[in-house]
Amino acid sequence: MEKHSCVDCGTQNCKFKDRTYPEFCPTAQLKEEDLQWALERYDEARNHDVMVAAAEVEFEGYCQWTRVQEVMEFARKIGARKIGIANCIGLVNEARIFARILRANGFEPYAVICKVAGKAKSSLGIPKQCEEIGAAMCNPILQARLLNREGTDLNVVIGLCVGHDSLFYRYSEAYVTTLVTKDRVTGHNPAAVLYTANSYYKRKMQL
Ligand code: SF4
Repeated sequence: MEKHSCVDCGTQNCKFKDRTYPEFCPTAQLKEEDLQWALERYDEARNHDVMVAAAEVEFEGYCQWTRVQEVMEFARKIGARKIGIANCIGLVNEARIFARILRANGFEPYAVICKVAGKAKSSLGIPKQCEEIGAAMCNPILQARLLNREGTDLNVVIGLCVGHDSLFYRYSEAYVTTLVTKDRVTGHNPAAVLYTANSYYKRKMQL
């Protein structure tokens, strides 16, 4: 039987508190040890600073600051000056503009592009047919490694592919935030598919 979760909840009582919890609710069923485990993690490394900075950015710029501005305000609050950029080659112009904005605001950007090292996809055992849209493979683990070597204070993802971003997030030593989520079909606005899921994109729901 399908297990229900927060996407099936109509109350969101974890936030509102004056409603009821559904019977499958993870808040209502929460084990104290899991809550404590999570709370203790906020004392690790700089997690507490990140939580405070994130909350302040959300509060201070609520519905006023763009994501570009939010990233810079967040970086300032956690004392990050050297900003790593992990960008897709398809968004190199966007990455350049972002780097210019960072420099103009006193930050030190350092970018590593996805195709760094220029290895062929087939050299890693990726099916040869994948080279039909370009032979050079993306190298998100190397992107992370080189940004780690640079000692970046905060890394920003600009348009890494689905899955490549997963590997980058895993291997980056600095905290990571995402400026651009790539979606070639929607002009990098993947939420457009969700907003139009009952109209123009209905067919995508049927795949
Ligand atoms: S935690 Fe509980 S109340 Fe909150 S959204 Fe999930 S199911 Fe609903």
